[in-house]
Amino acid sequence: MELDGILNDVSAYLEWELDEGRRTVSVSPDVVAELGDAAGKVETEMPEPKPKPQAPPTPAVSSSTPRTPAKPGDSLEAVAAEIAECTACELHEARTNTVPGQGCMHPDILFIGEAPGADEDAQGIPFVGRSGQLLTKMIEAMGYSRDTVFIANINKCRPPGNRAPSPAEMQVCIPYLKRQISLLEPKLIVALGATAINGLVDLPKGMGITKVRGSWLEFEGIPLMPTFHPAYMLRNPNMKRPVWEDLKNVLRRLGKPIPEMKKA
Ligand code: SF4
Repeated sequence: MELDGILNDVSAYLEWELDEGRRTVSVSPDVVAELGDAAGKVETEMPEPKPKPQAPPTPAVSSSTPRTPAKPGDSLEAVAAEIAECTACELHEARTNTVPGQGCMHPDILFIGEAPGADEDAQGIPFVGRSGQLLTKMIEAMGYSRDTVFIANINKCRPPGNRAPSPAEMQVCIPYLKRQISLLEPKLIVALGATAINGLVDLPKGMGITKVRGSWLEFEGIPLMPTFHPAYMLRNPNMKRPVWEDLKNVLRRLGKPIPEMKKA
């Protein structure tokens, strides 16, 4: 990619982070050095870049990690009822509705985002705002509907100001998602955005979403495709194409036909 393209992508990404309420981003010296190389003006004060790993990204959750079995008598309704009463983290304080998830049992695909936003909090349904409308379009482009997949988030309550949930908030909420996964038994998981990916997979150090996107990982033995969050695609329409490539990989793995992407 040309330097202008890289800078445009970085600029769009930072704008998106700002919109999401984040005020700091971590940039490794390797990335800074790479950008410097591309511009032909590396600062000599920068630390020596470490050698890049040669192997492809390796999921920290190995394929032998057993799936958490569903407890006898458990149900999605029971999980949703517990979530509705949950006060285990401070996110319960400002919520209007809990957002447990939506879709069918035993789906081919389980889409997982990070947490509800304002529209989702108001309606109690995941991915119904602008990002959700884009996700719905992509699901339909794959030949599915919202009723033939399942859509959920790591956290079931909206973080104030649409900030990302903290690691502690994710840790305390993720058992609900694990129970849902045990009951749903999806064939595949699509993790949407960095927060969701980091909540599900313990990535090796230095492996961010831009490096693992499009590579198969695993969660409790279930194939997991990491890709960008629809909110990021809204800020950076150039990313729709790589995300569509990821979703085509999902369809290939499911043995489904690959439709052509319609122009939005
Ligand atoms: S985000 Fe999860 S853990 Fe926190 S209060 Fe809501 S349901 Fe409970």
